Amino acid sequence: MNTFMKNFAFGAAFLLLGQVSVALGAPSAAQLKREAFAVVDTNADRMGRLNDAIFSYSEIGFQEVKTIALVRKTLESAGFTVQTGVAGMPTAYMARYGSGSPVIGLMSDYDGIPGGSQKPTSLVHDPFVPGGPGHGEGHNTHQPTLMGAAIAMKEIKDKFRLPGTIVVYGGPAEELVASRGYMTNAGLFKDIDALMDVHVSDKFGVTYGLNNFANVSVQWSFKGATAHSAGNPWRGRSALDGVELMDAGVNAMREHGYNPDDARVHYVIPDGGKQPNVVPEQASVWYYIRAKSPELVQQILDWTREIAQSAATETHTQVTERILAGAWPFNGNEALARVVDKNIQLVGMPKWSADDVAFVRAYQTSMGAKVEGLPTKPEALAADRQGSSTSDAGDISWNVPYVRMWIPTRSSGALAGHHWSSAIGVATPVAHKGIAAGSKALVASMIDLYTDPALLAGIKKDFAAQLARYPKWKSFIPAGATPPTYLNVEEMATYRAALEKFEYDPESGKTYFEFLGLKYPPAVPSSALGKASNEPKPDKTASSLEWHWE
Ligand SMILES: [Zn+2]
Ligand SMILES: [Zn+2]
Repeated sequence: MNTFMKNFAFGAAFLLLGQVSVALGAPSAAQLKREAFAVVDTNADRMGRLNDAIFSYSEIGFQEVKTIALVRKTLESAGFTVQTGVAGMPTAYMARYGSGSPVIGLMSDYDGIPGGSQKPTSLVHDPFVPGGPGHGEGHNTHQPTLMGAAIAMKEIKDKFRLPGTIVVYGGPAEELVASRGYMTNAGLFKDIDALMDVHVSDKFGVTYGLNNFANVSVQWSFKGATAHSAGNPWRGRSALDGVELMDAGVNAMREHGYNPDDARVHYVIPDGGKQPNVVPEQASVWYYIRAKSPELVQQILDWTREIAQSAATETHTQVTERILAGAWPFNGNEALARVVDKNIQLVGMPKWSADDVAFVRAYQTSMGAKVEGLPTKPEALAADRQGSSTSDAGDISWNVPYVRMWIPTRSSGALAGHHWSSAIGVATPVAHKGIAAGSKALVASMIDLYTDPALLAGIKKDFAAQLARYPKWKSFIPAGATPPTYLNVEEMATYRAALEKFEYDPESGKTYFEFLGLKYPPAVPSSALGKASNEPKPDKTASSLEWHWE
């Protein structure tokens, strides 16, 4: 009997013991956890199928319509009250079960990556739809992890009449750093006592402290005057000239405006005019300004604003600014992280099968990565390192005790983050086992928080001390601003119809692999080995800041 079977038998025995315990008095947290783990195991196959369905939808930020419909149906059928469209975003939601205190929350995002389309287990670039979006990071693994935990917690809560409320949240458009700031400002976390988040990783662990950079997402729109580009260009005022001069100004600022270790500034031009023979009347440029501290973001933003005004002056155009979103760095609470860590160590790594290891080793070989298979031990609890990525979830962490747990739902070895090669393993048994392990660590942590008032009081005290070490949080999002839910509408519409024939129905009776006709582990033709590593790769320049990618 392996450990998994032992745990399962132990859990089954406690299902019976649980009945006795009710009669004899309150069951211990350890007993409740064993019962909860048995529920997670019972639902694991279903959560795996939901994961694969969300993967197959390939939806990007603010377009997670099918994802949200599936989550809503699943949580409603489990007895939760689900409210979608919260904080002005159709694909944001909040689900509740129970009443009163304590109020324990679970949170995650679920958006994909433009250009991330890729069939699972294929070791070379093999998109469902060339150029289409896909889960080239693995955010599809997040909601099934939350749902596995929330549904198990609900069953245990009902059976043992535990007090309190379960709240599950979904924040869209994480890659646009766009939703959680608005959710925070809408007051959706006001009654939360503790909140736990999950993020795909090749490791199983939890960290605390500052995890990433502060960020602001801003669009500058230039307005000029149109004219015939050849006939009478002197009558025109090119809005694109305004954009180009602004970008040139920002590129000159880079050397002198900040220490490059402390900030990242990048832009795209969503609108640069229509065609060369018409002087562009409208043009816009969209920036992310990311920096170690909110103060430095503000300083760079102020300089960038001066550059925008100056570019407008130089080109006789006008410029307007719209802040789309922004967030402070994610600041995980240490006392809550200690609770989650204890439960991660209790759950342990999933029991990987020989097929899982064979698949991952073939993947790592094909990518030209270090062939290290899958980890067998969770990470030790550690203070985080502040990486250059950002997350809109950051703002929540300045309002309630909050941690992010890294769930082992993919292996190491991808060619890059935000890349099709990161999608290869996130709808496979490796991901499914990582989801079940993540659900168990979450539900066990919830049980601790529901049953030990002193623990929650300690977390609140630690959170107050944590906030006292920093300036007072203030949202970057101006009052009255609305979420930019128009983003990605066109991109998704371009690919939606072509992607539909690859959509997986989790209730079809077939596994996703049966639906796609895939074998596991995949047969690896020798010609595929190392092939993906011939794809262009970013330079391997060492950076002390390289850490988690958001
Ligand atoms: Zn992410
Ligand atoms: Zn990301």
